[in-house]
Amino acid sequence: MNSASHYDVAIIGAGMSGLAAGIRLAHFGRRVCIFERHNTVGGLNSFYSIAGRKFDVGLHAMTNYVRPGVKGTPLGKLLRQLRIERDEFALCEQKQSRVTFGARGEVSLRFTNDFAVLEAEVARCFPAQIDGFRRLVGRIKAFDDVSLDARPVSAREIVRECITDPLLEDMLFCPLMYYGSATEHDMEFGQFVIMFKALFLEGFARPFDGVRVIVRVLLEKYRQAGGERRMKCGVQRIIPREGRAQALILDTGEEITADHVISSIGAPETEKLLDGGRRPPGGGHPEAKNVGRLSFIETIAILNRQPAELGWGSDTIVFFNDSLRFDYARPQAQVDPRSGVICIPNNFDYGVGRALPEGIFRVTCLADYDRWAHLPEEAYQADKNRWFTEVQRSARRFLPAVDDLALAAATVTTDMFTPRTITKFTGHLNGAIYGSPVKNRQGRTALANLYLCGTDQGFLGIVGAMLSGISMANYHILQKG
Ligand SMILES: Cc1cc2nc3c(=O)[nH]c(=O)nc-3n(C[C@H](O)[C@H](O)[C@H](O)COP(=O)(O)OP(=O)(O)OC[C@H]3O[C@@H](n4cnc5c(N)ncnc54)[C@H](O)[C@@H]3O)c2cc1C
Repeated sequence: MNSASHYDVAIIGAGMSGLAAGIRLAHFGRRVCIFERHNTVGGLNSFYSIAGRKFDVGLHAMTNYVRPGVKGTPLGKLLRQLRIERDEFALCEQKQSRVTFGARGEVSLRFTNDFAVLEAEVARCFPAQIDGFRRLVGRIKAFDDVSLDARPVSAREIVRECITDPLLEDMLFCPLMYYGSATEHDMEFGQFVIMFKALFLEGFARPFDGVRVIVRVLLEKYRQAGGERRMKCGVQRIIPREGRAQALILDTGEEITADHVISSIGAPETEKLLDGGRRPPGGGHPEAKNVGRLSFIETIAILNRQPAELGWGSDTIVFFNDSLRFDYARPQAQVDPRSGVICIPNNFDYGVGRALPEGIFRVTCLADYDRWAHLPEEAYQADKNRWFTEVQRSARRFLPAVDDLALAAATVTTDMFTPRTITKFTGHLNGAIYGSPVKNRQGRTALANLYLCGTDQGFLGIVGAMLSGISMANYHILQKG
């Protein structure tokens, strides 16, 4: 065995989960190498530059924000386990967010990082439901959401035991689904609990300079701990032998070996690497058949003024839906503009006199991968332009009115990503940001030394992905000595 190409642990993918797993293992003296197919780290949560201007890919808001001193929360655990000081992320809190339903947003529930605001809003808009809502919150707080072997249960069924108004039920599901559901129409209750806590009981924050602050901190920790990484160096195949991952073949053709392999690229994506797609003896993990169906587009407009000057100064995130029933499913058309998420990064509380240099207006909607994936380039560009306008117009119904001409005059530049972009830059099949609908909490695969972390292990979002990397490194490698 060539010791230069043998590692204690090889990690596939330098997204949030792969980086977090790498830091944890390197801190404990393991020789770790992260292999990343692209030339940037961060995966779904990264950034890119066009003409010197930096665009965030994933980050609308970091969920799970709690103020200093609040103990026993995912953010605290993450910082402690990765040895990160709170100040290093320099998180700034949201101002307020809203869930808004109806043709013009006739019913709105505001929420902030103070849970009492949402509770008061539910009492105001749904007085007959407030006792049931409080009962639901009690059940959520009592639920063990970090258990790795909980039995999946329908969240709709449990929520309906407490909430009898379908409008309130859908308004609670809407943001939780947009920020972390790989399943259509319903969620697994454990996932519902994780997301309810992450969004409502904890809250939203963001570094002033966006996701690159988080990526920079993680990379620095990894480097300091002695972790290695190879960029533009994907893993092309995993060679199974006698029930173990015997070797990895890299895109360069090189072969490397490792005692343990952690894959952060998704369950079906990992199975595809197994000996060029052939299943190992005994068959693959059953989850690997379940490729996710849900993908998204996002429009980004850069403005030459603060959104507040257009009257858009109050909302950080708006989850909108133009009817009283919410349909979280793969759309019948290329995009479903009836519902989506508006993010205005200017509307975090950056402190007195501190504002982002330009206005940013982002809108995310559900999209159908198949209707984007195989378009010829010209048609693809034309469809992007058409949907850009339609999605922005739809979202603006839920913000104070701004004239089309005034918005066009304020827009300096735009960009947009589609399901095709997601697959191209992260390898996620079907452009499925939240991966497979069936999660694999234990992270085990058919091969004894190959584990999953990240999206398909089941903790979603930025904080969830990092916690997934940490827990899989702890559970499969560090706790076993
Ligand atoms: C538009 C958008 C908005 C979002 N908004 C938020 C938000 O506001 N808040 C929040 O908390 N979360 C948000 N998320 C979700 C969050 O970004 C993800 O859940 C999280 O980053 C997933 O991290 P991961 O490590 O599991 O996977 P990934 O980020 O997918 O990382 C996997 C990595 O593996 C690499 N890779 C793939 N195949 C190979 C291979 N064969 N060899 C080597 N490398 C490979 C990929 O290039 C990628 O870098 C958003 C995501 C998107 C796309």
